[in-house]
Amino acid sequence: MDTHAGLHSQAILTINAGSSSIKFSLFLVPQLNQIIAGQIDGIGGESHIKVKLASKNIDETIILPNGSRPQNHREALSFLIDWLHQFAKDVDVIAVGHRVVHGGQKYSAPTLITDAVMKDLDALMVLAPLHEPHNLAGIRATQESFGGIPQIACFDTAFHRTHKFVDDCYAIPRYFYKQGVCRYGFHGLSYEYITDRLIHLFPKDARKKVIIAHLGNGASMTALHHGDSVASTMGFSSLDGLPMGTRCGEIDPGVLLYMMQHEGMDATEIARVLYQESGLKGLSGGLSNDMRTLENCDLPEAKEAIDYYVKEVKREIGALTALMAGLDVVVFTGGIGENSAVIRGRVLREMAWIGINLDEAKNLDGEVIISSDSSRVLCLKIHTDEERVIARHTLELSDNRVVKNKVSNV
Ligand code: ADP
Repeated sequence: MDTHAGLHSQAILTINAGSSSIKFSLFLVPQLNQIIAGQIDGIGGESHIKVKLASKNIDETIILPNGSRPQNHREALSFLIDWLHQFAKDVDVIAVGHRVVHGGQKYSAPTLITDAVMKDLDALMVLAPLHEPHNLAGIRATQESFGGIPQIACFDTAFHRTHKFVDDCYAIPRYFYKQGVCRYGFHGLSYEYITDRLIHLFPKDARKKVIIAHLGNGASMTALHHGDSVASTMGFSSLDGLPMGTRCGEIDPGVLLYMMQHEGMDATEIARVLYQESGLKGLSGGLSNDMRTLENCDLPEAKEAIDYYVKEVKREIGALTALMAGLDVVVFTGGIGENSAVIRGRVLREMAWIGINLDEAKNLDGEVIISSDSSRVLCLKIHTDEERVIARHTLELSDNRVVKNKVSNV
């Protein structure tokens, strides 16, 4: 890919390693122009790389060569680096930024990864056993491939470390809190991006009482005052709060006891049900975890799944508003928040009592401001970009530490 006609350009690589996929992006420095965004899917099975090039406004799917079946993140990253080598030969990767789901109570800001940090993160795996191991595998794989260049960890939990004790504790014996059993809140990189956009686009409103609804496959909401997170719907794990594509959201712990005591389910089986078989998928009777499918389905189970989803979003907006003693701005983001006029419309119409006046046409058109001029609460739809937050922090933290390293040398 020609970035600057024969000249070598420097870039930040961002890596977001999930359970069976790795999202990646290349940002040219110093302006952080995103030149490639992509995803390797199907790790452990039929893999392919999907990429979007800034130079072409189309998605391309690249099927890995026959027999290329990366079994783990290390192998998948090795494919990715080979691919980058061919595709972006004139780009020098100078630093790598990683999304890390859990930073525990200790990490409240992006951090340069050292051996000591990796030791801490290894110890945190117990707090996020379904996510953190993949994040750490991604870090190790890029460390092996890129040698000495700076690697930066950007934590999803860090944004919420501004909470007071009472907003983060559970009413269980206090020694659990000391062990790290408390509310962490997630999606922090998305909240950080939206907060920055708010400050840029609506400086007078950004510091008021704001709720950001990140509604994607995973979903949570965060209340912000003076630009700081004061409470979030997600808690100790990424299961709590809103129902999600396949995750249950808020649930009475008595249900888990029932599953153990009466259904004989062990922790692995319960985790599978709560993380993979619940949420929209579970409630729709297995129809789909995708809001688009449910919106286009006439079956009562699909309708009930959406009704429950809308009810929970309204309930959490009410709860967060009560905690802040007011509400001035609501922002929708994430796949559902950005694309579903149906969900935004239902939530906002049914919350007219709180001072929301939806502009139906603007909502249908997907404009940034979707409330009417007379609405007391400003309602917005803003596209999120977690990768850009990672790239920005990586550039800031790796400045002056950069060791040039060509993709072609790895
Ligand atoms: P992730 O949390 O994995 O990053 P996204 O934020 O991309 O996920 O959200 C993906 C979800 O967004 C899909 O599963 C789908 O339910 C929803 N979605 C995407 N486009 C639409 C749409 N046009 N209408 C309704 N829902 C949509």
